[in-house]
Amino acid sequence: MNMDVLVSLSKRRGFVFQSSEIYGGTGSCWDYGPLGVELKNNIKRVWWRDFVQTRSDMVGLDASILMHPTVWKASGHLDHFTDPMVDCRECKRRFRADHVDAISWTHYCPATKGNKFTIPAGEPCGHCGQRRMLCPECGKGELTPPRQFNLMFKTFMGPVEEDASVTYLRPETAQAMFVNFDNVLQSMRLKLPFGIAQAGRSFRNEITPGNFIFRTREFEQMEIEYFVNPNDRVEGRPADEYWHDRWIEDCVTWFRRYGLRDENLRLREHDRDELAHYAKRTVDVEYNFPIGWSELMGIANRTDFDLKQHAKWSGKSLTYFDDERKEHVVPYVVEPSAGVDRAFLAFMADAYREEEVRGEKRVLLRLHPELAPLKIAVLPLLKKRDDIVRAAQTIRGDLAKHWRVVYDDTAAIGRLYRRQDEVGTPYCVTVDVQTVGDSERGEAGDRRVTIRERDSMEQIRVPIGELTTVFRELFDGASWPQVAGRYPPARG
Ligand SMILES: [Zn+2]
Ligand SMILES: [Zn+2]
Repeated sequence: MNMDVLVSLSKRRGFVFQSSEIYGGTGSCWDYGPLGVELKNNIKRVWWRDFVQTRSDMVGLDASILMHPTVWKASGHLDHFTDPMVDCRECKRRFRADHVDAISWTHYCPATKGNKFTIPAGEPCGHCGQRRMLCPECGKGELTPPRQFNLMFKTFMGPVEEDASVTYLRPETAQAMFVNFDNVLQSMRLKLPFGIAQAGRSFRNEITPGNFIFRTREFEQMEIEYFVNPNDRVEGRPADEYWHDRWIEDCVTWFRRYGLRDENLRLREHDRDELAHYAKRTVDVEYNFPIGWSELMGIANRTDFDLKQHAKWSGKSLTYFDDERKEHVVPYVVEPSAGVDRAFLAFMADAYREEEVRGEKRVLLRLHPELAPLKIAVLPLLKKRDDIVRAAQTIRGDLAKHWRVVYDDTAAIGRLYRRQDEVGTPYCVTVDVQTVGDSERGEAGDRRVTIRERDSMEQIRVPIGELTTVFRELFDGASWPQVAGRYPPARG
């Protein structure tokens, strides 16, 4: 599938808009719309529930984005978090030095009286044989020698723009968990191994952002720092190595549980020369995005690098007292780090289906019910009948106490179903003439409504009084056939 399809669906149905669109947009910044914010919150909510609330070895943290500038000295970000850049002296465009030959280039060819050509990346001119020397964009300016460009957003604390008050928007949430290690340890009386989790915004002044929400300058992370005693052994292996493998497995299982298909997931081991300076081993979980296989999340063994660095720069001890061995140790840390926006993109891409139903195209988001932005749509079959509309509104109000529910009467029923399929709503409830009867003819209604399931499009008749129970079962994980088997099918 192609990214444009997702971008267009996202805009049309209120998942993701370009930031500041009426002003022409802001480079690679995106806004999550009414349905997008629901999906994104659901991703974060189930992640938090599954990795923090249901585990006895995990606690949470919500740290501030602005931190003491020395944090970034200690972490290595000030010195190492850089990309080599070259600038065009004419048009002032900036390129990553290592990417400049990976884009097609503009050439004014001396062999053809200076005619302008666009030549494919890395290839020489077919007329004069020259290779690219100048700016690939304007074809006129010389490029500066490479300079290191820091990816952190610099800003100023306080009213005076002076050097003393320079600080940075955090480029990752991780450092706050290292800096708070002792606070968390002491206040919660924790024993190793334990982890701290945090979800929040980070900022990187990427030179080449792009591919929709895949790489953006402002993004959200879900990170875990899992601290282990490096002297411990689990199942005959060093504890950090054992837990690293456990976390890789748990993370892949989590993505599969919420719908990513096996064939779209794979692990990639970082080569030795690719490892960050602090890492003992890093494994990426890759997803087959519309742009190809790319990193969905990374799981790194950061050893004791961060705690030692912060101890050194702060002068505070960041150790753990090992009761058994009667010694202070600096824990090792395993870091599962996921991007919320990338998870969002992967869940959307994997859920997207186009089917043919009775000769018509049906677009469908097969989102896991826990992730779906809307859980139930209540639809009146005839919007001109007050009694049908009233009954539908009452049902919507009752169900909305428990789930995100919408009411829609702005089209014919077939089209209303398609609209809900396209945004992944797992169930529709339809109120019709049979439900309310016909008082003029003296016919009583059966007080039953139709529930339609998104993926199978099957329909059953359920008493209004049992709706809450039925949906509770379904959203608690009961399968559709299990529940549907108890009710008569609706006459389509
Ligand atoms: Zn240029
Ligand atoms: Zn040429």
